[in-house]
Amino acid sequence: MNSRRKALKSLITLPLAGGIVSSNELLANENQIVIDSLKKDYFKELGIRTFINAAGTYTSMTGSLMPKEVIDAISYGSLEYVNLDELQDKVGERIAQLLNCEYATVSSGCFGAMSIAMAGVMSGKDPKKIKQLPDVTGLKHEVILQESHSIGYSQALTNVGAKLVKVKTSDELEKAINEKTAMLWFLNANTDNGEIKWEEFVSLGKKHNIPTFIDCAADVPPVDNLFKFTRIGFDMVAFSGGKGLRGPQSAGLLLGKKEYIEAARLHTPPRGETIGRGMKVNKEEVLGMLAALELYLARDHKAEWEMWEKQINLISNSVKSIDGVQTIIHVPPHANHVPSLKIRWDENTVKISPNKVREKLRNGTPSIETVGNKNEIGITTWMMVPGQEKIVAKKIQKILKTYKA
Ligand SMILES: *Cc1c(COP(=O)(O)O)cnc(C)c1O
Repeated sequence: MNSRRKALKSLITLPLAGGIVSSNELLANENQIVIDSLKKDYFKELGIRTFINAAGTYTSMTGSLMPKEVIDAISYGSLEYVNLDELQDKVGERIAQLLNCEYATVSSGCFGAMSIAMAGVMSGKDPKKIKQLPDVTGLKHEVILQESHSIGYSQALTNVGAKLVKVKTSDELEKAINEKTAMLWFLNANTDNGEIKWEEFVSLGKKHNIPTFIDCAADVPPVDNLFKFTRIGFDMVAFSGGKGLRGPQSAGLLLGKKEYIEAARLHTPPRGETIGRGMKVNKEEVLGMLAALELYLARDHKAEWEMWEKQINLISNSVKSIDGVQTIIHVPPHANHVPSLKIRWDENTVKISPNKVREKLRNGTPSIETVGNKNEIGITTWMMVPGQEKIVAKKIQKILKTYKA
């Protein structure tokens, strides 16, 4: 036992009789000792590659890194028992206050938010209907969306029994509405691809008295998106917890009308005979999500943006210095709205393909993950630990230089 551990150990045993230190503090101390003294390197022990994330927020790459304040909230939450519903009630109210919306809940990611929201819209608060899903006999179960908004994630809706009805125009949308229509679903990332925009979509929902839902999973920054869509009038708005918000990767936010969120909650644990029972979010993630949101709202967004721009410029300038290499700096309009870089080159001048360079980056030390295709490498810096952009800049430059004709 090292001396620090010994010292802490005696600290733990000493004040107990006097009741000076609560059991929680003791447990916290003990946890700290374990972490400090063991320094167990799980990834190394398991032979798991860790890497610099120059790609973005990808589930396959385990999302984002949580700030210390979020980890602290998770550790704090792990030390006491609470009633799960009471916690979700209070945190939901707190989040609604922070985001100026009627109500909120912490879900199991944005996908989970979509599933429980859809389930809630179909069942309402009727216990029999809640239990019958995904059997939709006798329930409104059609969800209308624009064809250009149809991506893989709409599986979150069909998983709970809903049927997708795809339309192109507002005319088609109105014609598609019938007595089975349960919800109108909008994918914010694809706003520009669809004919129907936010306000019109919302007004169509209001006109026909059908709830509207918007998937904003990867759509902070900007911070205003957390307020904007409930303000416009969407009945339900969902965000991923572990993308731009940098909360727990397995958590998310469902914001909006209380009646729909309450119905959605009836599908979640602790209630067992529901389609959402497997989408459990426990106290640690609920608190972690709240902490991440509070931290995000308090952040200096302008300074952060300037840092990302600087980082992207650094990488861009470093590779652009090589003859034949071009870079494009761009900001996607809705989802993953951060300074991003595309690196392209003439393969007659630099004799290696983008995919091969990406492979070399992945297999290097440290390993670096990027995105891309056969024409280009794609980079973002928002998921990096500040400073790593220098390593990325150097590594890419070095590889490209090696293959310069
Ligand atoms: C990431 C994503 C989801 C899923 O979000 P999770 O938080 O991983 O469940 C849903 N929709 C879109 C558009 C996304 O980008």
